[in-house]
Amino acid sequence: MTIKVPFVDLKLQHEPIQMELQHAIQSVLEQGDFILGQALSDFEAAFAAVCGTEYGVGVASGTDAIALGLQACNIGAGDEVILPTNTFVATLIGVLRSGAKPVLVDCDRQTALIDLEAAAKAITPHTKAIIPVHLYGQMVSPRDLLKFADTYKILIFEDAAQAHLAQRDGYYAGSVGIAAAFSFYPSKNLGAFGDGGMLLTRDLDVAQKMMRLRNYGASQKYFHTESGTNSRLDTLQAAVLHQKLPYLTKWNRDRLSIAQEYDNELAPLASAGIFPLENQSGTGHVYHLYVIRVDDSCPIERQQIQEHLTAVGIQTGIHYPIPCHLQPAFTNLGYQPGDFPQAEKLSKQILSLPMYPGLNSSQIKEVVAAIAHAVSTISQANEPLPTDLGSVVV
Ligand SMILES: *Cc1c(COP(=O)(O)O)cnc(C)c1O
Repeated sequence: MTIKVPFVDLKLQHEPIQMELQHAIQSVLEQGDFILGQALSDFEAAFAAVCGTEYGVGVASGTDAIALGLQACNIGAGDEVILPTNTFVATLIGVLRSGAKPVLVDCDRQTALIDLEAAAKAITPHTKAIIPVHLYGQMVSPRDLLKFADTYKILIFEDAAQAHLAQRDGYYAGSVGIAAAFSFYPSKNLGAFGDGGMLLTRDLDVAQKMMRLRNYGASQKYFHTESGTNSRLDTLQAAVLHQKLPYLTKWNRDRLSIAQEYDNELAPLASAGIFPLENQSGTGHVYHLYVIRVDDSCPIERQQIQEHLTAVGIQTGIHYPIPCHLQPAFTNLGYQPGDFPQAEKLSKQILSLPMYPGLNSSQIKEVVAAIAHAVSTISQANEPLPTDLGSVVV
């Protein structure tokens, strides 16, 4: 089957700026400062500034930004960290690597974001921090978060891996808590030509500890004040990311208008039980993913819709099909099916539609028409035959 509408298309993003990206790479080749080079510090400062905070520390991945970032905030063994079960598994892995105890909580059904009422019930005397995951490109409300953190006297550590330049309540993602983790995985809203990540913070101590942790715990060359690791954002990747940074706002605006077009096209399907997840942050949503919910009231299953789309050449995804607490790797955390009903239900209902800057109107219409087609044809086929059919035949 040829792919008519891919899930993401990075070539579309890079082709128009290919020359300047090559130039950025070339200049690093000429400098030769591949590790902790000038282009890295330049990009760290630039990214922190556009996100409305002070310091950026580039690391090898978003996962490392979480794991090392928590350590840099002095969060670890003996501490509990609250996070949503509905997130990419890297959030949980980051907490486990820091040595802290992860405490999972359920999510809100309309937005799929962490449920702060559920989080309140998970507070104990050992709770040190909450990780709001700004999932799919929508921030967890900073106003609610700051009130929450103030009430319970805990830290906010943001997972902003899907929310580059997202805004809500007048805050940028990454500027709300003590620190924030970003990922530059290629398909993220700002993506490198490989893996990459960054910790943002306005706290100098956190930034300095993070710089040591990513560099074998060295406070100066061959002088190690703690045991760290090797996790640096390559100078080459930083140069690429810095070159792409000025386009991020436009790319995010594209994503938003694509989402608005999906919203409009999908509106008639609400009566068939198909809804987009709720956008509660207006134009501040940066739509890393565009996610719909196939409700119980829909006459067909999510899987039937996905299979039909695949059959007609439209790629989709599920983010995420198994909530963290039900992943086989984490049975030792002691959670059971039924512990987080909203997240469990959502995991069976959600479907991520194609979303990337450059996705055009006719493709959007094609995707929605294919969903509508699936609903009408499959639901007709599913309809039971009238029970008195036999007597009619006789
Ligand atoms: C991508 C992602 C991460 C991990 O980032 P990597 O760079 O892939 O390690 C963490 N949290 C969330 C929510 C993500 O989407």
